[in-house]
Amino acid sequence: MARLTLSGLTKSFGGLDVVKAVDLEVTDGELVCLLGPSGSGKSTILRMIGGFEGPSGGAIRIDGEDVTAVPPERRPTGMVFQSHALWSHMDVFANIAFGLKLRHLPRAEIRSKVEAVLELVGLAGYGSRRVWQLSGGQQQRVAIARSLVLEPKILLLDEPFASLDQHLRERLREEVRDIQQRLGITTLFVTHGQDEALALADRIVVLKDGAIEQTDRPSALYRRPATRFVAGFIGHMN
Ligand code: ADP
Ligand code: MG
Repeated sequence: MARLTLSGLTKSFGGLDVVKAVDLEVTDGELVCLLGPSGSGKSTILRMIGGFEGPSGGAIRIDGEDVTAVPPERRPTGMVFQSHALWSHMDVFANIAFGLKLRHLPRAEIRSKVEAVLELVGLAGYGSRRVWQLSGGQQQRVAIARSLVLEPKILLLDEPFASLDQHLRERLREEVRDIQQRLGITTLFVTHGQDEALALADRIVVLKDGAIEQTDRPSALYRRPATRFVAGFIGHMN
């Protein structure tokens, strides 16, 4: 299990601060949702934690170690995007095994790790399928498996189910929650849907214009919104 600490995390583009001195601690095995409207800085925060974007200020620590300047491939983070960016011409096994091959693991170990993670995401036996043969939901399961197989300390999910229909989204949400709890993996889940955040999170961080409006447990946030913005956003069901 791992602890993620953001201190004074800031990002500006062209002189405009889109992430403003964000302080946040996500503790061992917790699932925290970053919730906010489009443009509130959620993806930028996640990309900085994953190392795909350099902060303009502040620091990112994982288990106390400053990783702010560590390149993405050497960070103990795994990221899943809304559009999964799988290699559609390769089979499921090859997609998931790719990162393990880069690490020069023995073939038998790669096989057993990939099979275990396929089982975990409910795709046992799907290794030889081509990605283009899979449904959207199955492709997102592969994307999650591809992240998890590298055994990250921190899992980062950026609106992973946004392109799926409501029914499938709810099912995958439950599955992710189940996997997250079984592995005890510290997770940040970005969403603009308050129903999704309320259903998933141990704690919710509400963002507005790049700054934190309120951080609280779902029930507390729902009952005692700290600002008019939070009340409006949480109260608005979609
Ligand atoms: P969210 O994920 O909450 O929708 P983003 O983090 O994607 O928000 O974006 C926050 C703000 O930063 C937006 O106003 C967006 O236009 C701006 N932004 C994001 N990435 C860039 C970039 N590479 N260059 C300039 N502006 C950007
Ligand atoms: Mg986004």
